[in-house]
Amino acid sequence: MTDTDCLFCRIVAGEIPSDKVAETDTVLAFRDINPAAPVHVLVIPKTHSPNITALAATHPDLIADMAAVAQTVADDECGGQYRWIFNTGPAAGQSVFHVHGHVIGGKDLGWSPA
Ligand code: AMP
Repeated sequence: MTDTDCLFCRIVAGEIPSDKVAETDTVLAFRDINPAAPVHVLVIPKTHSPNITALAATHPDLIADMAAVAQTVADDECGGQYRWIFNTGPAAGQSVFHVHGHVIGGKDLGWSPA
């Protein structure tokens, strides 16, 4: 499914450029435009889903696909160690409503959950 008003669907379609780091039949990974760490890559399913809970309900297999790509990116870029973040809802900081996992790494990460 594609939402023509969705920024990340437009990136998947190639209508908006991205700095792609990995791709499979079902998943795309590209660098965050405003990185929060030396490694900051967004991993998304190519199909549109608004958040991780909705994706789990409709396409749980795609979460496994995303996890495999996240690990591949981390193996390539930060020794396989990383944080994988899904902001869910505006109050949690979600600004793009196409599910995406932030792969964060490349430095020693503290723990500041809120
Ligand atoms: P979130 O706030 O969790 O919804 O994350 C959305 C992320 O998308 C933010 O970290 C933005 O910096 C990033 N972002 C927004 N537009 C683009 C873009 N065109 N290319 C890459 N990353 C983007």
